[in-house]
Amino acid sequence: MKKNTLTLAIPVFNEAESLEIFHQRLGKVAEQLIDQFGLTIEILYIDDGSSDGSAEIMNHFSSGRYSIKTICFSRNFGKEAALVAATECCQKGAIVFLDSDGQHPPEILPEFVRRWKEEGNDVVYAVHHKRQDHPIKQRMVGLFYRFINAGSSIEIPPNAADYKLLSPRALEALKACQERIRFFKGLSTWIGFKQSAIEYEPEERISGTTKWNMLGLLNLSSEGVISFSTAPLRATILLGVGIAIPAMLYGFWILFSSLLLGNDVSVYAALFTVTVFMGGLQLMLLGLVGEYVGHMMRELKQRPIYIIAEEHSQKAKTSEASDAFGG
Ligand code: UDP
Ligand code: MG
Repeated sequence: MKKNTLTLAIPVFNEAESLEIFHQRLGKVAEQLIDQFGLTIEILYIDDGSSDGSAEIMNHFSSGRYSIKTICFSRNFGKEAALVAATECCQKGAIVFLDSDGQHPPEILPEFVRRWKEEGNDVVYAVHHKRQDHPIKQRMVGLFYRFINAGSSIEIPPNAADYKLLSPRALEALKACQERIRFFKGLSTWIGFKQSAIEYEPEERISGTTKWNMLGLLNLSSEGVISFSTAPLRATILLGVGIAIPAMLYGFWILFSSLLLGNDVSVYAALFTVTVFMGGLQLMLLGLVGEYVGHMMRELKQRPIYIIAEEHSQKAKTSEASDAFGG
């Protein structure tokens, strides 16, 4: 049973305008997966504290030969928290994560399942064929991956989307990562196993705009770097050495120049510049170390990653009942 169960997990935050269309598309694909692979399918919506009536819309969806479960958070905890909830509230089996705005086309799900069932991959993930983002954002994303991969023991694939399938054992491995702050893209690579990438072209959103702003993206990126890389700390040591050695040599030169050559060296301007520069540098590096300490504090507090306010479930209909309902 476990080997043949697949949960389609969808984080939702204020997507009222897209949901009906998205669910229709997903429902069709779910039925196709049942016919093609004989799977037991659960659709799991995680409402991440929407305030636009998304939860009410989802509660009115009726199941087909697949079951539907909706869990609603007590407030907005962020997409990463919704993904964690999906891993903890889904049925035992495999899981696929996909966005509710239609940018992750459900129609390519059969290919995900084929690569899992027929090719024996444990992690199947979608990779943007080409990024449609602004060139500056593309450049920043490229830099982020170079930076994070430079100081990490794993290679996180650039351009990989959160559109991902995990086999039952890959899901169990992911659930064993018990840290509070989970950088999903990193962890799903870190667990290892046989992985396969599917190239796809992200579609336009069905409606609305992205929920990420620049600050949110910066936050996610810094959490990602801090969770997976000590490169910034190492770079700090190099920077310190790079500044200390020339400063020391300059100090020797001043001593040599004034004591042995008898030159009149004006050190005040030099001292002032060096002091201000060092002060700024030390503050910057303290801030960097503070980021790591803050990260540890959040881990230590052991607060729940999300809080569930409500849950709704609908069992799958048998084929006869589903025919009678027109499903
Ligand atoms: N989302 C969420 N919580 C949030 C922000 C977004 O659950 O705080 C959901 C959102 O409803 C969508 C998915 O995460 O299903 C991706 O969000 P979005 O489309 O805004 O991100 P982008 O595609 O621009 O990366
Ligand atoms: Mg999107």
